[in-house]
Order: sequence, then structure tokens, then C-alpha cells
Amino acid sequence: MPELPEVETVRRGLEEVLPGRRASRVEVTGRRTVRRQSPSELVSRLQRRRFRRPDRRGKYLALGLDSGDVLVIHLRMSGQLLYLPEPSAGARLPHTHVVVGLDDGSELRFVDPRTFGEWFVTGDLRPDGLPAEFDRLGPDPLADGLSTALLRERLLGRKVAVKAALTDQRVIAGIGSIYADEICHAARVRPDRRVETLGMAETRALALSSSRILRAAVVHRGSSLKDERYVDLMGTLGSYQTRHRVYDRAGEPCARCGAAIERVRFGARTAYCCLGCQS
Ligand SMILES: [Zn+2]
Repeated sequence: MPELPEVETVRRGLEEVLPGRRASRVEVTGRRTVRRQSPSELVSRLQRRRFRRPDRRGKYLALGLDSGDVLVIHLRMSGQLLYLPEPSAGARLPHTHVVVGLDDGSELRFVDPRTFGEWFVTGDLRPDGLPAEFDRLGPDPLADGLSTALLRERLLGRKVAVKAALTDQRVIAGIGSIYADEICHAARVRPDRRVETLGMAETRALALSSSRILRAAVVHRGSSLKDERYVDLMGTLGSYQTRHRVYDRAGEPCARCGAAIERVRFGARTAYCCLGCQS
């Protein structure tokens, strides 16, 4: 599933092509992609509107429109947002559920084989212009910053494993399974450790590692796994997967201490970690 670095890479791609463009034609063919409102409502609120600068919180894209509404897109498991400068050159891929024709002849296409992805247009906004429902999201480590004090406050009173807390979007927005494992390894903390047992130095290491790992992953344009489901706006794979230290590397030696990476189970979850240097 695309996490913060992948969605931010898509957002940066959109920032180069979308501001000022008008949605001249909107086609919704996916029955599940637009489910919070009727497809005809989404089309009528999007058609003829001009896009402003695209924003993001956690794994949500928030594309502001000149009407004051915001188009929200969540890629979920397998959604791909693709930009075609010359759409006539490319046949539509199977599972194309939304097509937005822009006023310069280019197209945005939303492809989503598993159909968990979602689009909706909302006018229910906070003072900062983002959708009101983003209030239920925790801080975004890149957009909002994540200090040790803030992470400590977010974790306070939670009695769950560190990985469960890091991937809970209400605690921190944007982290999923891949980056939670990488952040825990960088911070030398086991992902199955209980949050309430963390000391101040460990909380600090987790806060610093969260920002550092997510930022590095954005620089490398996100992680594309073997299924190649994640691609950027132009259809290109990310490269951060070659820098993963633990995720999907069971049996390989830890780059820090040489012990074998393990896949550990806790509750209904799994995580990749090194028991040699994470405690
Ligand atoms: Zn190690």
C-alpha cells in the first residue's frame, strides 16, 4: 500500500502539471471509486473547475479547486494516479475508474485493480483549507513535523505495540507497514515492544528516525515492491526499496550488526526486524 513517501511523490508530480489547469471533462466508470457521494455529484463539482496547488496529509491527497471545494484522493491498496500529456498515445489500462481530461489536452487517470481507492469532493473544510475530516488524523511527520515531545504526547496512554501505534493514522498520519519496520530498525527499537515501556531516548530515536526515513524515501521517490503496484504520476517505479534495511529481508544479514533479519509475529501482525541490534 502506498504510504507517505509514495503519496508525496505523486503530489510533487501533480504540483508540476496541475495548478491552473481546468478539468474540462470528468468520466467516472468505477462503481466503487466514488462511493461517498454520487458519481454525478462528483462530476458536477469537479467539471469546469480549476486546480490550485495540491496538498497532502498522511496518505490523503487534497487537491484544492477554484470553487473552494477540495478533491480528496486516497490510493489505498492498489490505486495509481497517472498523468498522460498526450492521452491519445496510450490505451486505457484495465481497471481505469476515473478519467479527468484537462484543458490543455492532457489527462489524469485513476487505475485501481482492487478498488479500495477513493475519490470525493468536499466543501466541509478547516480554516487551513484542508477537509474537516482530516482532524481525526495525527500529525504528518513531514508536513507538520514530529518532535520528541509531540510523539511522546501522541503515544501517551496507549497500550499497544510500537508498530501498531506508528501505523495508527490517528496517532501519526502517513506511516504503514514498510516504513514502520524501517523506522523501528533505524531507532534500534523492536516493533513488537509495548509503547508504555519506551524510555525518553527511545521515543526521541523514533521521532528522529520517522522524519529521517520518510524524507529519504521521498528523495528516492518511494518504494515499489515486487508487485510493482506503486508507480509515480508518470508511471515510473520508485527506488527506495533497494535501501530497505529490514522490510521483506528475512534471512539477510543486518547491515548494522550482521545478525539475520527476522519476521516476527505479535498478535495479528508481523514485522521485519533485527533481534541483534533492536531491543
Ligand atoms: Zn542488527
